[in-house]
Amino acid sequence: MKRMQAVLYFPWLEFRRIVLGVKHSAEVDITDNCNLHCKHCYHFYGRDKLNKQDQPLDVWEKRFRQLYEDGVRFILLVGGEPALRIDILMLAHKIFPFIFVITNGTIKIPSEFKHRLFVSIDGSRKINDSIRGQGVYDRVLKNFTGDDRVVINMVLAEQNYTELEHVVRLARDSGFTGVVCNIYTPRNDGYNPWELGSEARQAIIRELIRVKQLFPEDLLVSETMIKWYSIADHRGPCYWGDEALHYDVSWNKRRCFAPNADCANCGCLAGATQSPLTMIHQLREIRSILYEV
Ligand code: SF4
Ligand code: SF4
Repeated sequence: MKRMQAVLYFPWLEFRRIVLGVKHSAEVDITDNCNLHCKHCYHFYGRDKLNKQDQPLDVWEKRFRQLYEDGVRFILLVGGEPALRIDILMLAHKIFPFIFVITNGTIKIPSEFKHRLFVSIDGSRKINDSIRGQGVYDRVLKNFTGDDRVVINMVLAEQNYTELEHVVRLARDSGFTGVVCNIYTPRNDGYNPWELGSEARQAIIRELIRVKQLFPEDLLVSETMIKWYSIADHRGPCYWGDEALHYDVSWNKRRCFAPNADCANCGCLAGATQSPLTMIHQLREIRSILYEV
């Protein structure tokens, strides 16, 4: 029912955005803290002082209610690790009809929170734990096996892209809804824990095509997205960057998840979905990504 609601509701919200300029989607860091230290993470780089003192719930209530009043109906909650603030997730659940969360999966999220969870797994146990920390793979599976709120969210780079097929099979065997991928997106300020040359990027794209042919229903990266990934340069207008609202934990506006993201080499799933017009060509994947209750 909720999925159907979203499919019907979104064109109206989009019409309202074009005619009245009312933005309907937002992406928000709800904490700057995290319980992991992943090798490819750049969230904590380049800031003199992170806001480790998280904001209390009443601050979030005011922020969320204002967003809702301003027209926001789809919200993506990120961090840091958003599951460190279950209180904020449950608050969002009371206010917004459509919520996505990107989580590392090491903390359980109550079953009453009936929204899509993008849970990070970057390969088989050995590869994933070499990137995300010892024991993380097993903790994620212990917390979420059989939970159809989960779509695995995999970051692809030279170090792990050959693990994609394993991760798709894992999603099928674990009762998850499928797998989405982001190609590792570098920063343009020189801080890049991983490098990704153009040859490696092309190899990743070939692997995406191969695995998509094997598992068209489970790999929720559409052919349209894969084509977009293979374009050399993504500077210029970006629907996700320009038409969604983006806030860090201190409520500063920004253009995208990471400050200084190198749009030229963008591998973000959100960028690859492009615009509502291209979404028409990827309805199978978009329908699966939306959570059904
Ligand atoms: S879980 Fe996310 S925020 Fe935390 S260290 Fe890993 S990549 Fe960074
Ligand atoms: S990094 Fe990608 S998704 Fe973000 S604004 Fe740039 S092109 Fe768009």
